[in-house]
Amino acid sequence: METADVLVLGLGPAGASAAAEAARRGCKVVALDRKREAGRPVQCAELVPALLEVEAGAVRQRVGSMVTFVEDDAPHVSAAFPGRMLDRAAFDAALVEAARRAGAQIRFSCFIRRMTPEVELADGSTLRAPVIIGADGPRSRAGRAIGSVNSALVETRQISVGLLQPHAATDIFLSADIPGGYGWLFPKGDVANLGAGVNPAHKGRLKSIVARLHSSQRDRLSSQILALTGGAIPVGGMLRPRGRLESTTVLLAGDAAGLANPVTGAGIAAAVHSGRLAGQAAASGEFGQYEEELEDVYRAALERALARRRELLQSKLEKAALRRGWIAYPEYWQ
Ligand SMILES: Cc1cc2nc3c(=O)[nH]c(=O)nc-3n(C[C@H](O)[C@H](O)[C@H](O)COP(=O)(O)OP(=O)(O)OC[C@H]3O[C@@H](n4cnc5c(N)ncnc54)[C@H](O)[C@@H]3O)c2cc1C
Repeated sequence: METADVLVLGLGPAGASAAAEAARRGCKVVALDRKREAGRPVQCAELVPALLEVEAGAVRQRVGSMVTFVEDDAPHVSAAFPGRMLDRAAFDAALVEAARRAGAQIRFSCFIRRMTPEVELADGSTLRAPVIIGADGPRSRAGRAIGSVNSALVETRQISVGLLQPHAATDIFLSADIPGGYGWLFPKGDVANLGAGVNPAHKGRLKSIVARLHSSQRDRLSSQILALTGGAIPVGGMLRPRGRLESTTVLLAGDAAGLANPVTGAGIAAAVHSGRLAGQAAASGEFGQYEEELEDVYRAALERALARRRELLQSKLEKAALRRGWIAYPEYWQ
């Protein structure tokens, strides 16, 4: 059985950030992912807050405001929503490269079958470490092993289509026809990511919901679909990010720790930040501090989003409820 100081499961933003921090602090780090290469296939709408540090090469364009459409009401413009649209594959690849440069052993095409705490791969090989960082996404095997499992998910579908005129805002579509989620149009130069997320019970309707959004925006979008993606987003709120299996300490980060926002689904910034903290904690042994820091930084915001999401799901999805359930309206923050 192979051993390391720290095993990192998953090489998305959380795992790559964790691997880099632990390796920088002198740990022998082995980081694994089932993907064949970093960041591909992309399963993301690619919007991050302006404050997140991003390598220039991974930025596709800036956005300044958010435009929210509630049913067929006139659009509501919120001026202060600065962000950046990423090339998510390049963003993930840069984080993985930084981890490699810091000394972490990076291994793709490694499917993790089980964690007991031995990590068993699909080829039958096993690895062991005193600290395992579970950064393996919404359906984390590390989380399952310690009984910290995302309780609610949203299912998504997204197409990329040509954008006929420059756009510098993120457009959000709220409607009773998009239950448990919302539609989005995010610009990336001459392309837009157009998608929707819904409660899993309505997953079968996603194709027609996105097709309807597409045709409603045909004056500014090309009809040809350039790419199609989707995936699950955890929306059940923050999980206990620390556990123990025999003598192994398990830390969860990013989506595996339930840090995506239950209303917006945004999770990239939290994945990078929590991954860094997890890597630092793995190296220092200050595991309690990791849990406390996540509590301090994320608990209140995630609880508010969770409360709004629950209210919305219990409502008849009328316009006032849709507005109260969305971050662009003052009602959300009251
Ligand atoms: C359609 C869509 C749009 C989104 N849009 C945005 C957005 O615009 N902005 C934003 O901030 N967030 C967005 N998100 C959420 C965001 O993508 C996640 O919050 C973020 O990727 C979390 O990073 P992570 O490292 O925790 O997990 P991930 O990026 O999911 O990385 C987990 C890694 O673990 C690997 N893995 C999982 N299981 C195994 C296994 N058994 N064996 C080996 N490897 C495994 C996966 O291959 C993956 O590489 C979106 C999500 C979706 C699905």
